[in-house]
Amino acid sequence: MKDYFANINIQPVRGLSTGSVTTHILRLDLLHPVVSGNKWFKLQYYLQEAAHTGHHTIASFGGAYSNHIVALAWAAREKKLQSIGFIRGDIHTKLTPTLEQAKNLGMKLVYVERERYRDKEILIREYAQPGTYWIMEGGYGILGARGAADILRVADTGNYTHIACAAGTGTMLAGLVKGKNEAQAVIGISVLKNHYGLEAGVQALLTGEEKQAPLTLLHDYHFGGYAKHPEVLLRFMKETWEQDRIPTDIVYTAKLLYGVKDLVNKGFFPAGSRVLVIHSGGLQGNQSLPPGTLPF
Ligand SMILES: *Cc1c(COP(=O)(O)O)cnc(C)c1O
Repeated sequence: MKDYFANINIQPVRGLSTGSVTTHILRLDLLHPVVSGNKWFKLQYYLQEAAHTGHHTIASFGGAYSNHIVALAWAAREKKLQSIGFIRGDIHTKLTPTLEQAKNLGMKLVYVERERYRDKEILIREYAQPGTYWIMEGGYGILGARGAADILRVADTGNYTHIACAAGTGTMLAGLVKGKNEAQAVIGISVLKNHYGLEAGVQALLTGEEKQAPLTLLHDYHFGGYAKHPEVLLRFMKETWEQDRIPTDIVYTAKLLYGVKDLVNKGFFPAGSRVLVIHSGGLQGNQSLPPGTLPF
């Protein structure tokens, strides 16, 4: 995977900049055609640990459009490990392009009905097998955060005053806190509705010292909830494409860019701020939209 790091770049975002605040975007979406964005970063140390401790299979969880599931299928294959994805839904759930891709990469798919999917502890107990290494949904955990800290090392990011990312489980956000320098502040835009447990979830991945770092979590940009994408969001995505040639995804990065734009307009950032937003990938999730909805 490291061979692909050269694909990543940083570009200015005109639509999110003003006379006094400059915004750039770290294009992790350009990393790799299958495993774009933050997911490989979050997975890398889990897979390393699994391989070093003699496991032959990696198991994890996700929905029918999960970026995490595809990335896991790819990364496990790269490490010559088997993979199993526990998928929310039943056997009649249509094989989405996401699941099809995971399957083609060699992942075994096991469907779990919504009710049962909720309690992962029970599922892990039920499906426990010797040699199987479990990764939490979305790659949540300390090793995931350590892996995400490496995101800030793939390009020259030391010169920014603020780093902003979208937050699902908050693992990437915790990783950015670990990887940033002392002068930088981190901002997380929650993509789930009323996900007030996010704060504790992030804090649990930080050391005592890291807990003191400047970190802002915002809950105002979920657009109705996870994967919800009202017309106003789609319109913003089209504008961002037209103005800056940046493709975004409906679940995470569109909400991030919208949120940061709003913060810039509201004067959240002091004059002279240099903001870096993380394009964490996820574009494959747009396949859930009717064809032709977006111009990219
Ligand atoms: C999974 C994902 C996130 C959220 O990452 P967390 O570490 O769970 O907060 C953000 N952006 C994209 C594109 C993702 O796929």
